[in-house]
Amino acid sequence: MTFFKHVKGLSFVLAALAGVLPAEAALRVVSTTAMVNDLVKRVGGAEVSAEVLMGPGVDPHLYKPTASDMLKLNRADVVFYNGLMLEGKMTDVFTRMVKAGKRVHAITEALPETKLLKPEDFEGHPDPHVWFDVELWAACVDVIEKRLVEAAPERKTVFAENAAKERAALAELHAWAKAKAAELPEAKRVLVTSHDAYNYFGRAYGFQVVGLQGISTVSEAALADMAKLTDFIRQRGLKAVFVESSVSHATIERIAKDSGVKIGGELFSDAMGAAGQMENGYDVGTYEGMIKHNLNTIVEALK
Ligand SMILES: [Zn+2]
Repeated sequence: MTFFKHVKGLSFVLAALAGVLPAEAALRVVSTTAMVNDLVKRVGGAEVSAEVLMGPGVDPHLYKPTASDMLKLNRADVVFYNGLMLEGKMTDVFTRMVKAGKRVHAITEALPETKLLKPEDFEGHPDPHVWFDVELWAACVDVIEKRLVEAAPERKTVFAENAAKERAALAELHAWAKAKAAELPEAKRVLVTSHDAYNYFGRAYGFQVVGLQGISTVSEAALADMAKLTDFIRQRGLKAVFVESSVSHATIERIAKDSGVKIGGELFSDAMGAAGQMENGYDVGTYEGMIKHNLNTIVEALK
């Protein structure tokens, strides 16, 4: 018995060394952010063993891979990341891995240029926060499906079935989000937060979005910008501003105090909640729960 177990273990190791997976083993997939991981898990289903590098509250703009991350990345059969420079400090790592022949893919790689926003203060680069337009995010399912099939062609049917289900689920979520946003009259749809993570959200669901720190969290807010924002909040008669889970709350709290409005709640922007974490009845450890929690928080506070 022990002998056979041993042989089985050995053949697995040999197969792994040769770069082929034994038929019964799940594909090892590593994703950078929890949003990407959520989508990968839904398309991959039981055929993948999915791991994520960045946990709750982690800022992907500033994230540098640790030694144990590098080990996970090197062991993975497929690596997925958001791309559009969201993981700014990991670009070199990905470039090196691609050169070495690893399957490393940005899930946003096939999004049409015309759908991408290029805000002025991001120096010609596209805004990476595409997951807040659920319809645009659903388009990333295609890339995940295609790349998983490339890595495990024998599981094509399962990936196609899972992908179709996920496209339908996201279409439903997009419709829900539009209906929720429509509960607010257009004049009240103004979202003030710490950094510009919500431009796609604004475009998709009809909100004017004002972020204090610009498109990335790398630069800090200047005092002049804070004064401008305070004036804006007063002029528009806004009722609330919002803090983000992965960005320091201090500046937005200061703005709320200076302009005499409340903090409408904590939104998830560049990271999701912990697995199974419930907020107002939504599991914010899932993409769907995060989108619903954010919209609900925004709409209720601005009503
Ligand atoms: Zn961001």
